[in-house]
Amino acid sequence: MHVSLSATAYAKLNLALHVTGQRADGYHLLDSLVVFTRYGDALSVTAAAEDSFTLSGIYANQVPVTGDNLVLKARDVLRAHYPDLSSAVAIHLEKNLPVASGIGGGSSDAATVLVLLMRLWKISAESADLNRLCLALGADVPMCMHGQIYSGGVIAKGIGEDLQHVQNLPELPLVLINDMTALSTPQIFKNLHKRDNPPLPKLPGLTTISDLCDYLTSTRNDLYAPAASLAPQLPRILNILDDSGAKFTQMSGSGATCLGIYDTIAQAQHAAAQLRHNYPHWFIQATSTVTASALPQL
Ligand code: ATP
Repeated sequence: MHVSLSATAYAKLNLALHVTGQRADGYHLLDSLVVFTRYGDALSVTAAAEDSFTLSGIYANQVPVTGDNLVLKARDVLRAHYPDLSSAVAIHLEKNLPVASGIGGGSSDAATVLVLLMRLWKISAESADLNRLCLALGADVPMCMHGQIYSGGVIAKGIGEDLQHVQNLPELPLVLINDMTALSTPQIFKNLHKRDNPPLPKLPGLTTISDLCDYLTSTRNDLYAPAASLAPQLPRILNILDDSGAKFTQMSGSGATCLGIYDTIAQAQHAAAQLRHNYPHWFIQATSTVTASALPQL
């Protein structure tokens, strides 16, 4: 029997995303409050006689199967760093998250494959090394790795490498919604006119969903305006979430997926069922944020 390990690659949600500057090399500086959802892609790695990569899931046909896939890039980067510990592996990705939709599916897949392969190959990387490996795969990969390892949320600064764990965030009942518009992140940043925006207001001690929603009303997603210039239906989608009973709504990342926060899981599930009925061809998913009990250990 070959050893097999599996895990969920959580969706990454930017509850707030402030663009605070731009580095000389073109990378944007961010200040973002990020959480992770139980709903995500499913990944498994199995020791095998030779390497393979297979795909399933509703969005499988939207991801590259070549070396461009972040799953394979993560495998290859880890193998290059630890050639003596690595061995052949069969990787399967069930793609449940829409692609290029602002919820970090590719980045989360990369972080999750690293976690699984480190367990399979018995690699224990120093956290600084791990952060460097993640950053080499993409600016959002370190925060997705954080989501795999710790509970709660994270404040991501810099280009995404400077991470501060946020403790005691309440578990958030959520609906994710996307009318199947794919937005290219580089294109959104190109459309961003003001880059030196104020950082996130200081995060107070937040224990209830209402506290968090109150705080979020004083925050922004600075990528919303450039995204809405390319996807003019975004304000209507936020209104649809408002009308379904969400306490707070926002677009995640560079869009176009939007999120609604509800008081209870039952309300989120009810809203999602209703919305799916009205918009059967959209991506609409009720979920909640990840808590400690759902997390795999390294
Ligand atoms: P980001 O804001 O980091 O670009 P996103 O959530 O908007 O993230 P992803 O779903 O991560 O978008 O896809 C971004 C790009 O990465 C797509 O153009 C896609 O072709 C490529 N990609 C490579 N590997 C994957 C993967 N495993 N899953 C999804 N996309 C992938």
